Amino acid sequence: PLVLGIESSCDETGIGLVRGTELLANAVASSMQEHVRFGGVIPEIASRAHLESLVPTLREALATADVTLAEVDAIAVTTGPGLAGALMVGVAGAKALALATGKPLYAVNHLVAHVGVGVLEGGELPDSLAALLVSGGHTEILRVGSLSSDVELLGSTIDDAAGEAYDKVARLLGLPYPGGPVIDKLAAQGNPKAIRFPRGLSLGKFMGTAEAPGPHRYDFSFSGLKTAVARYVEDCHARGVQVPVADVAASFQEAVVDVITKKAVLACQEHGLKNLLLGGGVAANSRLRELLTARCQSAGIGLRIPRPGLCTDNGAMIAALGAQLVQAGVAPTGTDFGTDTGMPPSVISLPPAA
Ligand code: ATP
Ligand code: MG
Ligand code: FE
Repeated sequence: PLVLGIESSCDETGIGLVRGTELLANAVASSMQEHVRFGGVIPEIASRAHLESLVPTLREALATADVTLAEVDAIAVTTGPGLAGALMVGVAGAKALALATGKPLYAVNHLVAHVGVGVLEGGELPDSLAALLVSGGHTEILRVGSLSSDVELLGSTIDDAAGEAYDKVARLLGLPYPGGPVIDKLAAQGNPKAIRFPRGLSLGKFMGTAEAPGPHRYDFSFSGLKTAVARYVEDCHARGVQVPVADVAASFQEAVVDVITKKAVLACQEHGLKNLLLGGGVAANSRLRELLTARCQSAGIGLRIPRPGLCTDNGAMIAALGAQLVQAGVAPTGTDFGTDTGMPPSVISLPPAA
């Protein structure tokens, strides 16, 4: 099936066109530059930008794929999680398109779509699969039984997301937004062992043992790490010494990457999952890719990392999941649904069919 996907959960307006597992177009307009001076995404600005970008981005995607709306078999749209006002623009646009064209409409979960995009590179997803999603808004480990009916949240951050931690720490160090790419680069010149920053929720009482798992075995926490970096910087100022920015960047990055890779591999092992898929904007991180590759290899876990343009928020991932739902015979959602901004429940399911 030829499916049009619409994404507007955060600061990217994405329109994708996918036929089966073949990517035809992935047009993305980002409002990131408009948020730079605030050091983070401002919801109202993001919503307004979606409104302005939706139709031009749709036109661009149709032109790139060289298809018309009439040829599209179904439309899929992100219903959540995400920013309420931002989601609303994509959902309203998708409903308008569906009503105007008579095409079936699927409301899809953004997190599941980060997994579903995997089919665009390397084909069908393996049966035994976990996903590690790391972005500005998410840090999650999922068990993926079936994209249409069985996705379980094994763990998530209890405070900041990993990308958010990068952005906040960059700000503390006087570095520009977004912080991830800048810290990644700087860290290459620093010593990751220079400062021992805390690994959130990795102590025995949170992780437990194999027999008696702790309450936060697969969860993450990055706010303590951020505070530790802040204290370290303050201490440098108080002592009148220069902040060793590259060492702080490298040590901070090591703390983040160490704990997320360790927990992702542990979750795979303890749930008997033989494959791991990485997604989200932080998947671009060089140290994360390196350490995750090494740890998966020694644990005998197959690792799939889609290219960066498919890991950050985009419309192709929504179209790819939509195409898989159509293929699986899932009924369309209809147009009677709203946005779903909350964090996913322990088992992510699709909204009931109308
Ligand atoms: P969502 O959370 O809904 O997926 P988002 O816009 O917050 O959306 P993305 O666009 O997927 O997230 O990714 C942006 C985040 O990824 C930012 O926090 C940015 O700092 C981080 N990031 C980008 N490149 C890197 C990198 N090389 N290393 C670490 N973090 C990075
Ligand atoms: Mg983004
Ligand atoms: Fe995302």
